[in-house]
Amino acid sequence: MPKLRTIDDVVSLQLCTGCGACAYVEPERYEMIDDPRLGRRPIAFAEGAPSSGQAMEVCPGHRLEHDFDEDDPMMLRELRPEWGPVIAVWEGHAADQEIRWAGSSGGAATALALYSLEREALHGVLHIDKDPQRPSLNRTVLSTSGEQLMRATGSRYAPASPCDRLDLIEDAPGKCVFIGKPCDVAAVQAARRIRPRLHDNLGPVIAFFCAGTPSTQGTLDLLARVGVTDPESVTELRYRGNGWPGRWTVRFNGADGEEESSLSYEESWGFLQSYRQWRCYICPDHTGEFADVAVGDPWYRDPQPGEQGKSLILARTQAGLDLVRGAEQAGYLVLERAGPDIVPSSQPNLLKTRGRLWGQLVTLRSLGVATPTYKGMPSFRTWLINLGWSEKVRSIGGTIRRVIRRRLRHRITAVPMDEPDA
Ligand SMILES: Cc1cc2nc3c(=O)[nH]c(=O)nc-3n(C[C@H](O)[C@H](O)[C@H](O)COP(=O)(O)OP(=O)(O)OC[C@H]3O[C@@H](n4cnc5c(N)ncnc54)[C@H](O)[C@@H]3O)c2cc1C
Ligand code: SF4
Ligand code: SF4
Repeated sequence: MPKLRTIDDVVSLQLCTGCGACAYVEPERYEMIDDPRLGRRPIAFAEGAPSSGQAMEVCPGHRLEHDFDEDDPMMLRELRPEWGPVIAVWEGHAADQEIRWAGSSGGAATALALYSLEREALHGVLHIDKDPQRPSLNRTVLSTSGEQLMRATGSRYAPASPCDRLDLIEDAPGKCVFIGKPCDVAAVQAARRIRPRLHDNLGPVIAFFCAGTPSTQGTLDLLARVGVTDPESVTELRYRGNGWPGRWTVRFNGADGEEESSLSYEESWGFLQSYRQWRCYICPDHTGEFADVAVGDPWYRDPQPGEQGKSLILARTQAGLDLVRGAEQAGYLVLERAGPDIVPSSQPNLLKTRGRLWGQLVTLRSLGVATPTYKGMPSFRTWLINLGWSEKVRSIGGTIRRVIRRRLRHRITAVPMDEPDA
């Protein structure tokens, strides 16, 4: 089985999540580019500095290690094996109606960030927004106002690297919030161990649940499907929000001036999910186990027409619990306490995905395909209990097919957008 020794190994063997942490810790060596087929990927500068090794230390693509206190009496024991450390669960939403409406589910992530800025005197929020020049792409921003936070509401089902600008937190005049996918959050927590200034300036870390990141090619093909063949003509692109779950909506300059086209959440995600990067298929953490607070969709019930939305909210640490309670007391969040069983009933797909992991890893290793190292994230019990025998067999068959179709035994090269394929 190929060994994962360098960032180039992680990228070329398709284990990169696209978080951007390597470009933050070794900026003289790596920059992030957007490969439309793969996602955001680091490439080494031609005349770059030699690697310090820090990039591999923080990279979640090749290694995830959980070291939470399993005996913590506050932890909900029934959730620990499949969902990691959880102290409390709620269904809730932003108290502000505009945030609630604009947010992906109930605007909880944005409401927590706004509370941190306005009431806890934090300096900023490092997260993702659309690129104003090319709204089909994303960029990392440090928002310092409610207006900026509002602009970035809603999940973007496209590559994003919020860790590539962790320097903005490091250099900020005060503490900052971080919002990102579970793999982004794992990278931040690894990076704070080796970067004391980041550690000192890092406030609450918020993750959202994540089934996987589709490539930019997915967005381009979806645009083409609704008749937008020139991505440069796009003036606005939302994947979610403006109601729950909200519609995928594009505005673009057409033959008759600005036009709009939209698809339901089911249509757009149904299309985009087949473009997910390989690493997402063998991801052990779809629910932000390394975060202080994790938010997701309460899919245990069907959205009603015109529904404003609610978020599923998990406090994972004492700091997360304090944040959620503080936001509620200050009138930023409206909460209803929920039982632990709301988590598996809201996310049956993520439970199955975690259940497939053990069999997938064994299959990949036996075929000589590179796999990440996961510690403190057991998967055998979940595989045994949560998958029927036919699902186990299908999952192994699907893994073998993907090894062939995605050429997982061969190395690939990331190619920046707008440049001819190698
Ligand atoms: C790729 C992807 C897959 C997801 N899969 C699931 C799933 O399987 N199950 C589930 O319950 N929920 C999933 N979600 C999360 C869900 O869509 C909501 O984001 C979540 O419920 C939080 O909603 P909210 O209203 O609190 O967030 P909001 O208040 O709308 O805030 C969203 C925040 O997320 C940040 N953000 C948006 N897109 C990205 C991105 N691509 N990378 C990093 N940061 C980003 C924004 O900057 C913003 O700060 C997924 C989201 C994404 C982006
Ligand atoms: S997973 Fe993150 S740190 Fe690792 S190679 Fe990819 S972008 Fe860099
Ligand atoms: S599925 Fe896992 S690896 Fe993929 S983007 Fe989401 S958190 Fe990252």
